[in-house]
Amino acid sequence: MQAEINEHRLLERIDAFARIGGTPAGGVNRQALSQEDRQARGLLARLARARGFRVFQDPMANLFVRREGRFSSLPPFVIGSHLDSQPTGGRFDGALGVLAAFEVMESLEDAGIETDLPLEVVAWTNEEGSRFAPGAMGSSAFALGHIPPEWTDVRARNGAHLTEELKLTLDALADTEARPLGIGISAYLELHIEQGPTLEREGVPIGIVHGIQGTRWLEVVLTGQAAHAGTTPLAFRRDPMVAAAAALDRLYKSVMQKDERVRFTVGRFVLEPGSVNAIPETVTFTIDLRHPETAVLDALEEIIAAEIEEERVASGCTSSIRRLSEMEPASFSDTLLTCLDRAAEHLGLTTIRMLSGAFHDALFINRKAPSAMIFVPCRDGLSHNEAEYVEPGHCVAGARMLLASTLEATRQAP
Ligand SMILES: [Zn+2]
Repeated sequence: MQAEINEHRLLERIDAFARIGGTPAGGVNRQALSQEDRQARGLLARLARARGFRVFQDPMANLFVRREGRFSSLPPFVIGSHLDSQPTGGRFDGALGVLAAFEVMESLEDAGIETDLPLEVVAWTNEEGSRFAPGAMGSSAFALGHIPPEWTDVRARNGAHLTEELKLTLDALADTEARPLGIGISAYLELHIEQGPTLEREGVPIGIVHGIQGTRWLEVVLTGQAAHAGTTPLAFRRDPMVAAAAALDRLYKSVMQKDERVRFTVGRFVLEPGSVNAIPETVTFTIDLRHPETAVLDALEEIIAAEIEEERVASGCTSSIRRLSEMEPASFSDTLLTCLDRAAEHLGLTTIRMLSGAFHDALFINRKAPSAMIFVPCRDGLSHNEAEYVEPGHCVAGARMLLASTLEATRQAP
């Protein structure tokens, strides 16, 4: 018997999970380690047990559903994504990947197919990073093999403590089996919505993601001297805003124009003391910088530093640049990408190879085991928004790709 994705079951599941933390506007508010997140995890664990699968969680509350294979001592092939959402998030970001992965497992069970490798479905903890920063906590700790010590101080904006919320979340599923963080896995495959416009624009149902661009977050602080806006003549001004404006003007006009693959964004800009009639003492802004190549990111950081240095000197200010975070670019496994190509060919689905602009759990897991991703189109490229929408046919096509490539890959361990 051949394994077949049960469309109706998959689409109903997507609806059922969208009701957990569902918002009046049709989106989802199911932030990491919240009540709603615990409910969604609880539902997945119940569905898993109803099918006789074992359920595990590790100290980071990553949730695993396991179906044994012919060689159960071999490291499992892992498929999944995340169940947490943005505060005004959509119903497909993350959930589609977990629920399609569970559908793959159920369809194998329905057809009585035994894979060589054990198969596991995973829901990684706190991918979004909106309640507790940074994002992708579950997958990055899994790849590291331990919880970074600095996370013990992490708090949500409302004061909730990460460590406590993690404990409550683990306790809510106390009847699952505990396992250590970062067990060996053979490979990882993640289905996700594209969160960009390419697939929809090209009219292609499946993106085979060959890598994820690198991201650097910088914080720039320019310090001058606060003084009266009306009485301070030009020669006496040490205005950090002048330096920031001039440096950013040149960066905006050059960085992205010279290389279309660069993403350069200033998303936070704070002036202190922030008074209408005072020259600011300090200007603090962030830069989100992205590119597929580490060498280019290094070079761009140097250009940014040089531009700021030049304007700092011209304006008589002081400055500092600090790296807030860094995610190196990822190149996915050729073996897995070949499995994905073969699966698409077998299913008669058109695909394009693409790079992910956003980070995903797969970026971190790729540091530990061969990984790859499948993208499906979302309407207008919109995500992190309650209006996020994926055509049912595209959800199903994504699940079929996940099933076919899982069969390819678990037959022949990468
Ligand atoms: Zn996501």
